[in-house]
Amino acid sequence: MSSVHELKFLKDKIQELKATGVYRKLPVNTGPCDALIELNGKEVINLSSNNYLGLANNELVKQAAIAAVNKYGAGSGAVRTIVGNMDIHEELEVVLAEFKREEAVCVFQSGFMCNAGVIQAITEKGDLIISDQLNHASIIDGVRLSRADKAVFKHSDMEDLERILKEKRSQYENVLIITDGVFSMDGDIAKLPEIVELAEKYQCLTYVDDAHGSGVLGENGRGTVDHFGLHGKVDFSIGTLSKAIGVVGGYVAGRQIMKDWLLHRGRPLLFSTSLPPAAIGAIIQSVKMLMSSSEYTDKLWDNARYFKEKLAKLGFNIGHSETPITPIIVGDEGKTMEFSKTLFDEGVFVSGIVFPTVPKGTGRLRCMITANHEKAHLDKAISIIEKIGKRLSII
Ligand SMILES: *Cc1c(COP(=O)(O)O)cnc(C)c1O
Repeated sequence: MSSVHELKFLKDKIQELKATGVYRKLPVNTGPCDALIELNGKEVINLSSNNYLGLANNELVKQAAIAAVNKYGAGSGAVRTIVGNMDIHEELEVVLAEFKREEAVCVFQSGFMCNAGVIQAITEKGDLIISDQLNHASIIDGVRLSRADKAVFKHSDMEDLERILKEKRSQYENVLIITDGVFSMDGDIAKLPEIVELAEKYQCLTYVDDAHGSGVLGENGRGTVDHFGLHGKVDFSIGTLSKAIGVVGGYVAGRQIMKDWLLHRGRPLLFSTSLPPAAIGAIIQSVKMLMSSSEYTDKLWDNARYFKEKLAKLGFNIGHSETPITPIIVGDEGKTMEFSKTLFDEGVFVSGIVFPTVPKGTGRLRCMITANHEKAHLDKAISIIEKIGKRLSII
C-alpha cells in the first residue's frame, strides 16, 4: 500500500519545524476581541490585536451588523459583477471615499485580496515595480502576480530608491513605487513626502498600503497620506477594514478612472464573492463614528503615549516606533519566546515575534495598544512586564 495519501512530504516538513522549535498551535479565543480576552481558557490582558479603536466589539457596530443581516440576509450570493453588488456595497464606497478625501474607492474582501488584485491590474509587461524591502507579505504576493519587472529598495532608504530610479527609469513605460504607510514590526512611518518628491522627479506612480495607518494617523484616522497632507499626490491608497475599523475587508482609494478599470480587471472582485451584509453594515457604522468624532483616535494615542513612556522609563528597548505599535526588543529568539510565555502565565498576552518575520537577533514582543484599554489594564500589564523583564534580566 502506498502511503502517498498520508502526505509524508508534509510530515517531513512538520518534523523540521518541530526540530527547529518553530512549530506552534493556534491560540483559541472563546469570546469577543477586547481589552481582556479569554485565551486558551485563561483571562489575559490583550496586547496583541489590531483592533486599534476597540470597534470590533462596539455595541453600535454590532447593532449595525445585525440590522444589515435582518434587511439583506447572511450572504451576498454572488460576485459583485453578477448580483453580489448590493446598495450597501455602493454606499460603503461612497462613505470611504469621503473618509479618505479621494475621488473614488473600490472595496475588496480583505486587505490581502486588495493587494493581490490591484497591483496586477494596474501594471503590465514593460512596467517596473519598486518595492520597500520591508513591505507586507500581501504586497510581495501581489507583486508576484504582476507581469511587470521588479526591484526592491532598502527599507526607507531614499538614496537607494533614487539609485534604482536613475539606473532604470528610462527603460520602462510606467514605474510604480510601493510602500507600507506604517511598517507593522517597528511602527515607523514611510518617508512619504520624499517618496512623492522622487516620484514626481522621475514621473512614477505611487502606491501606499496604509493598513496600520488608517484609523490611526491623520485627522480622525484618515491615514498616512492625510498625516503628511499629500492628498492628490499618492495614486493608490490602500486601507484595510480589518484592523482599526474592526471588521473585515480592504479597499483602494484614488481616481474614478482607477475604479472603473478595477471593476473590469480586479480579479478578486470578479471571481470571489463580495463581503457579506453583516460586515458591510458594521463597517459603514464604524467609519461614520470615526468621521464624526476624534474620541477614538484621541484615546488610542493617549494610551499609546502613556504605555511607551512607562516602558522606556523602566529601561526597555522600545525601538523607534512613531505609532501605537510598541515593540519590546529582546534580541535572542529563545529569550523572546520565554518572555512571551511567562507573561501569558502571569495574565498578559503579547505575542513574540522572531526570525524570519524580523531579522535574526532582533526578537521582540510586539505590544499593540488600543483605545479600549483602560489605564488600569495598562498599569497592570506594565507592572507584570516589569516583574518578568527583571526576572529574565531583560532590564
Ligand atoms: C494586515 C495587513 C494587510 C492585510 O489586511 P487584511 O485586511 O487583514 O487582509 C495588508 N497590508 C498590510 C501592510 C497589513 O499590515
